[in-house]
Amino acid sequence: MTNPVRPTGSPCSRIMIVGEAPGQEEERVGTAFYGSSGWELDKMLKEAGLNRTLCFVTNVVRYRPPENKISKWIAFKKKDITPDHVMVRGLPVLPIVKEGFDLLQQEIDMVKPDLIIVMGKIALWALTGKTDISKWRGSMLFSDEGIRLLPTYHPAYILRQWELRPILVQDLRRASYYKDKPWPETGWNFIVRPTFEQVVWHLNALYDDCELRSTMLSVDIETRAYNIACIGIAWNKHSAICIPLMVLENNDGYWTEAEEAEIAYLLYRLLTHPNARILGQNFIFDAQYIFRAWHFIPQFSRDTMLGHHVCFPSMQKSLDFICSMHNDHYVFWKDDGKTLSLDRDENKHWAYNDEDCVRTY
Ligand code: URA
Repeated sequence: MTNPVRPTGSPCSRIMIVGEAPGQEEERVGTAFYGSSGWELDKMLKEAGLNRTLCFVTNVVRYRPPENKISKWIAFKKKDITPDHVMVRGLPVLPIVKEGFDLLQQEIDMVKPDLIIVMGKIALWALTGKTDISKWRGSMLFSDEGIRLLPTYHPAYILRQWELRPILVQDLRRASYYKDKPWPETGWNFIVRPTFEQVVWHLNALYDDCELRSTMLSVDIETRAYNIACIGIAWNKHSAICIPLMVLENNDGYWTEAEEAEIAYLLYRLLTHPNARILGQNFIFDAQYIFRAWHFIPQFSRDTMLGHHVCFPSMQKSLDFICSMHNDHYVFWKDDGKTLSLDRDENKHWAYNDEDCVRTY
């Protein structure tokens, strides 16, 4: 057994930082985040306007794992499970990890921080049961006890993947900004599964806006089997309507033919209005589908993917990543509703018919 490593910081700290397990330097000195990743952590905290001395810094595990590999103590693969492993938050772990996990819960109960910065996959697992840090980083989450959590990459990972450093700093900036404020309210007013009257009312109201002034509209489609499954239109930060076309429960679609024809006309009238300023993510994708389905091209104005890519050419440019870097409120959402997806066979009736460019249901 190696030497245990103590947390640093006062139990009165309002911010807690949770890492994975100590490395060689930490083990030698007996202090969490003392080695090269600790150095880098201190610098990044400073850049983000946070001060390490005001944070309670701890780890999920108190002891250095063999070869610095926590996978020696947590079985991520079925073949690595031994009779000594016990289940904690859905993962088989050795008792040394369970002990650290319990200690971490006690520390959280003692410090009662306002915000926990969750560094890396193991800390994310310990606090939420999730393990995909690259998906969840930057998300504004809550612990089981209702404490605000902000997951981000582990500083040791940054030392190996230097190009990710600005992302970690940006996450820390979010933590710094919200260190003594609640996560922002979303105030969302989304209309999903609308009635025909609601669709007509909103498309007409937005058209009236366009008649009066230049009107920014965010537009996004979802596709299934090469058809438009739904189209969403947002007219401000909080308000949007999703117009479904394909639905799981009805092979004939959401609308009658007459209703869908009316909606297609209203979409055409709105989205091609000279005062409509359409904003989208990689909108050339949406535009080609819209053209093929409804034979018009929206009044394109701005593309979030292109805008972000021009400013930050070396960074990822997926919508979830862009939102995690620029939005006031962000929680990773891309896996929502994944369990609802159709299996391949059921999907067949949505197949795209090349000959006549219409749906073949
Ligand atoms: N990595 C961690 O997760 N914790 C430390 O204390 C040092 C490196």
